[in-house]
Amino acid sequence: MGSCKEEERKQQKSVWVHGPIIVGAGPSGLAVAACLKQSQIPSLVLERSDCIASLWQQRTYDRLKLHLPKQFCQLPLLDYPKHFPKYPTKHQFISYMESYAKHFCIEPKFKQLVEKAEFVNGIWRVKSQDCEYISKWLVVATGENAEPVIPQIQGLDRFNGNVVHTSGYKSGYEFRKQKVLVVGCGNSGMEVSLDLCRHNASPHMVVRNSVHVLPREIFGCSTFGIAMALHKWLPLRLVDKFILLMSNLILGSTENLGLRRPETGPIELKNITGKTPVLDGGALNQIKSGNIKVMEEVKEITRNGAKFMDGQEKEFDSIVLATGYKSNVPFWLKGSDFFTEQGMPRRPFPNGWKGENGLYTVGFTRRGLLGTASDAIKIANDIADQWKINKEWDNICSSYVILQI
Ligand SMILES: Cc1cc2nc3c(=O)[nH]c(=O)nc-3n(C[C@H](O)[C@H](O)[C@H](O)COP(=O)(O)OP(=O)(O)OC[C@H]3O[C@@H](n4cnc5c(N)ncnc54)[C@H](O)[C@@H]3O)c2cc1C
Repeated sequence: MGSCKEEERKQQKSVWVHGPIIVGAGPSGLAVAACLKQSQIPSLVLERSDCIASLWQQRTYDRLKLHLPKQFCQLPLLDYPKHFPKYPTKHQFISYMESYAKHFCIEPKFKQLVEKAEFVNGIWRVKSQDCEYISKWLVVATGENAEPVIPQIQGLDRFNGNVVHTSGYKSGYEFRKQKVLVVGCGNSGMEVSLDLCRHNASPHMVVRNSVHVLPREIFGCSTFGIAMALHKWLPLRLVDKFILLMSNLILGSTENLGLRRPETGPIELKNITGKTPVLDGGALNQIKSGNIKVMEEVKEITRNGAKFMDGQEKEFDSIVLATGYKSNVPFWLKGSDFFTEQGMPRRPFPNGWKGENGLYTVGFTRRGLLGTASDAIKIANDIADQWKINKEWDNICSSYVILQI
């Protein structure tokens, strides 16, 4: 005999969705819903948390600002308010997201964790914990940063102090006067280390791999913007050469500080692997002045600290894991080989937005919000082309409906 829970699941209600189902109410999901709305196409946005842009609202640190100037982080059809600074704060970004959802009357269904989605007999069946949603179209908008990556470091479980992933880190205030091991040297690792310095903590940042650190701006212009503009005229390798030359002039050699540069240039590397260069927001100066200590790879964590590959051993009060995020698509999207085992589309940008059988993906371009905007427009246009033709099909299917929303 099945348990009560199993019985409940068997009786799960099914809902025919008039329009596409969008999984995820982050910037990407909202952007697709808005573009569809523009073409008078309704959609249903399912979100596991209780708010829109939950990554930004619930899993980022207080001091966070957009890494890129606002013109590169805008969603389609609605600009940032004019008075916003060049690099909006996290709170300004969230308020922009809220106005965006309000402007397009997007009302996601919250607390709907999608556990399974599958294309069966010509339709998408999308199951959350308490409902099954059915549609002809499925838009995957769960993001490249859906789950924190927790590295396997020997001894991590026996550490006596506090261990937190950057998704749970809010402010260095909680770590004031502490000696903190920061594992990871990407944008988050650098910014958390800087934030810790500003709260009189003593960060030790583990640099395991090579990393490109670039100035955020070159002569007052965004480094990223310059790279994009130059790439219109020059091959990528030449653009990288120029960016690295300017970086060395502005920042000096980072190798001397223990930050080895990869052999491949920063923009080429980003395109090939998705690894984002660090845009320096002040951490480099703190490394130069010795306030942030650069450490070699960790060999093992001890009860009170860590042993490093170079033989050093140090005590720490806390550990911050700045080890990044991963996609969760393989956990819930079944029967499709559109995504890799890592949950990224097999076809890279700009061809990764459309799969088979009405499957779409948005926000998996490794190009941040700029990639999101481009995907969202393409998806909405593609669905709009089918919408009129499929209206009749839709009417037939809705007779199959158990409940209309
Ligand atoms: C610290 C930090 C700073 C960043 N700064 C920038 C920047 O300056 N510029 C830039 O362009 N990009 C930046 N990014 C990248 C940023 O993540 C994206 O640009 C943006 O948030 C992507 O939006 P998204 O909607 O694709 O994904 P997300 O924002 O991650 O939204 C995905 C949504 O899907 C929901 N979800 C996940 N799984 C499920 C499920 N199974 N069922 C239901 N809902 C689910 C999540 O709860 C979430 O709300 C930054 C990322 C981080 C972590």
